Amino acid sequence: MPRLALDRTSSSADVTAAVAAWVDKHVPAAWREAAGRGGRAAIREVRSRADYEAWYPVFADSGLVVATWPVEYGGLDLSPEAARAAEGVLAPYNLGRLNPLGLSAVAPPLFAYGSDEQRRRFLPPLVRNDEKWCQLLSEPGAGSDLASLATRAVQNGEQWIVNGQKVWTTWAHISDFAVCLARTDPSLPKRQGLTYFIVDLHAPGVDVRPLRHIGGEVDFNEVFLEDVQVPDAHRLGPVGDGWRVANATLSGERQMVSGAGSGGVDRIGGAGVERLLRRAAELGRAGDPIVRHELMQLYSEERIRAWTNERVRATVRAGGTPGPAASIGKVQGASLNQRLQLLAADLLGMGSTAWHEPWLDGIPYETKGMLRSRANTIEGGTSEVNKNILGERVLGLHREPDPWHDLPWEDVPRS
Ligand SMILES: Cc1cc2nc3c(=O)[nH]c(=O)nc-3n(C[C@H](O)[C@H](O)[C@H](O)COP(=O)(O)OP(=O)(O)OC[C@H]3O[C@@H](n4cnc5c(N)ncnc54)[C@H](O)[C@@H]3O)c2cc1C
Repeated sequence: MPRLALDRTSSSADVTAAVAAWVDKHVPAAWREAAGRGGRAAIREVRSRADYEAWYPVFADSGLVVATWPVEYGGLDLSPEAARAAEGVLAPYNLGRLNPLGLSAVAPPLFAYGSDEQRRRFLPPLVRNDEKWCQLLSEPGAGSDLASLATRAVQNGEQWIVNGQKVWTTWAHISDFAVCLARTDPSLPKRQGLTYFIVDLHAPGVDVRPLRHIGGEVDFNEVFLEDVQVPDAHRLGPVGDGWRVANATLSGERQMVSGAGSGGVDRIGGAGVERLLRRAAELGRAGDPIVRHELMQLYSEERIRAWTNERVRATVRAGGTPGPAASIGKVQGASLNQRLQLLAADLLGMGSTAWHEPWLDGIPYETKGMLRSRANTIEGGTSEVNKNILGERVLGLHREPDPWHDLPWEDVPRS
């Protein structure tokens, strides 16, 4: 499938015309027709997830999935302005990006710290969704205080031998590779003795055990690493610099979870504000003054959230990393989405709390969204911790006291 004949010098008008022609030729007619007839809801009726995944390589091979990236990594090298023009043409067809953790949390550290060889090896299959990615960061004893983690990597010639346990690893059960933060020198203070690796999840010694969440589904996992061999060529960034490299992942993830990278709030739990407005009318609740008040408040906050995210997107499109400002979107988006999902479930009345068996099939969409949204203030860094980041790195307040700050990691008491 040919890449679009566009480049850095293409004007927005050229891009608009070329992408519109590409849509006519390559987006299936039934999806185009549905988009014209009833927008996203109608597209969902005619397009299954499996259909979309099967078609996705056509989208990826066009270069439009990552239009500002260099051609050799799967993009078109478009200017940020031209990429916006392309997005405008694609928007009605709801062509979401697959492999979101790969795009938002793995690509940023690969761009910032990876070698050209690593980028050529890993980015194109990531963009095509041929190789799926997850992130091995949190551990049973290291979540918010991630830098205290205990997974060890010891060098043995050209290999590193990795041992430890990770937890809450989203999509590990369907992934091929993971970025992994491991301790390479316990005699240094906690942030200094860490190194970042790319781990092949199909390698001997990797044991992925799924965990079921409150909505009944499996999204995340425990991952046990026992004498897993990782080639030194899969080290990302210098030995001992893993904390800095991991921060490119964490900012990207915050941005994704806040919705800035891969779609709106409705992607997280199930009820965007526009959909809620329609639902309230359908259920005859739009005239209720309390419901109207809540809808108005949520609508206003959703607008502010979208503008904040647009600023982060603009930074990313211009080649920057999202940085601490991504925490603003994360904190606001998490709380907003929880209240949106709660109102969506509330509109159903008793129907949201009782349903027929079986458990997963009978549960209303809104209830599922409401239950899933409880995780929004935890995943990608808790709201409390993101507020600390904002206080320290954006507002310039004093750092939280850490009595163990300069001590070697191995001398710090741990539970
Ligand atoms: C749905 C979901 C998906 C996830 N996916 C992944 C993944 O793919 N990969 C991965 O590595 N991890 C993942 N995580 C883990 C997530 O990053 C951690 O759960 C999170 O960082 C919190 O760590 P913890 O659960 O250990 O809680 P703790 O760190 O033990 O925190 C417990 C409570 O203490 C508060 N707290 C802690 N420190 C402070 C502080 N300094 N100031 C104020 N309050 C504080 C927290 O806000 C929280 O309320 C996921 C989590 C969820 C819920």
